[in-house]
Amino acid sequence: MDNLELKAAGTRMYEMASDLFPICRSLTGEGVRETLAAVAKRLPIKVYEVATGTDVLDWQVPQEWNIRDAYIANLDGERIVDFQESNLHVVGYSKPVKTTLTLDELAPHLHTLPDFPDQIPYRTGYFNDDWGFCLSKNVLDDMQEEQYEVLIDSELTDGSLTYAEVEIPGTSEDEILLCAHTCHPSLANDNLSGIALLCEVARWLDSLGARRKLNYRLIFAPGTIGAITWLAKNQDQLQNIVSGLVVSCVGDDGGPLYKCSRRGDGLIDTAMAHVLKMSEIDTASVKEFWPYGYDERQYCSPGFNLPVGLFQRSQYGEFPEYHTSADNLDFISAKDLSISLDLVTQAITILETNDTFINLYPKGEPQLGRRGLYSLIGGDNDSAALQLAILWVLNMSDGKHSLLDIANRAETPYMKILHAKNLLIEAELLAPVSTDR
Ligand code: ZN
Repeated sequence: MDNLELKAAGTRMYEMASDLFPICRSLTGEGVRETLAAVAKRLPIKVYEVATGTDVLDWQVPQEWNIRDAYIANLDGERIVDFQESNLHVVGYSKPVKTTLTLDELAPHLHTLPDFPDQIPYRTGYFNDDWGFCLSKNVLDDMQEEQYEVLIDSELTDGSLTYAEVEIPGTSEDEILLCAHTCHPSLANDNLSGIALLCEVARWLDSLGARRKLNYRLIFAPGTIGAITWLAKNQDQLQNIVSGLVVSCVGDDGGPLYKCSRRGDGLIDTAMAHVLKMSEIDTASVKEFWPYGYDERQYCSPGFNLPVGLFQRSQYGEFPEYHTSADNLDFISAKDLSISLDLVTQAITILETNDTFINLYPKGEPQLGRRGLYSLIGGDNDSAALQLAILWVLNMSDGKHSLLDIANRAETPYMKILHAKNLLIEAELLAPVSTDR
């Protein structure tokens, strides 16, 4: 994607995150449906509803949770903590409550961040059969009255878990899995940035048209239970997955970070490592797999062991805004979303094009001048780099090295190697070893 396209995409992603920010999402419920309805305006997703109680691998689909209102008020009726101001104020999956309590009785149900006294934490209690409020330490410190009125107007019912999927077909059966979670309420980086990024990846994949070879499956599902549900329903159809990427926290200015799949041998692993290395971003890093994090944990569980990695900017849990009210729309930017999109689409370009070729004139260097390739040596650095890339591709294309192998050996950005390959194909100096993928 060129810079103008990336800039426009960055703006669209930021706008989408802004639109979705106020919605109260959770593992299940109307907030997730509303969020997926916004995705459906951009992509032809298919939405699935899986009934409460359905067995999924070692789990069961939980009850559906919905909430209309919640507050802690003083006895004058003044709301001290108000769900209408921030949906982070209620612990996710809180059961309904309507009572009057002393501050001492209320205290075990209150969560604050003493180290960040003006922020509201994000907490869930999916399987706790309990209720609670999250508030800033500053607000708690001001609560001096004897008694408070407490209301959580929520509902836990036998309903369903909602997730969505869209397939963007190519000509090959080889499949790429791309996943974002949908279960966080008003948090911008953790959740919304990933959803917005996948929508733009889909738009870009669509723009490739006939140039797109691979089959893509995009999944928008709640974390953990959503991936487990999807895997349970699709476990007989995973054999075509050749690479996958979970995206989350992709809108801040940290990282970028790629966490390898458990196998570490997927093309996505080497492709992301190459893209991050070549990005020349000082803070870019690649880490080995560890069994915590986002839904790569499920895709990389030993019974599936899919080559699915995790792409992030700042690593979850490592930035102070993580799971707090500071993970808001000021924490992400259109620019950083576009940088993330650029890195991910570069890696996908590698997945799409990383073929192996054979130099048709391997004895001595072929004469490039006669074929119009020598004239590419101009004065500027860019054409010198392209000239060198041409020599690398010619030299290494012995039928044993893929374009990514060559890019890594040459320590040259893959895009440059790809450009050189295209010129050499046009000049009939290079032929693919095999055209089937
Ligand atoms: Zn999270």
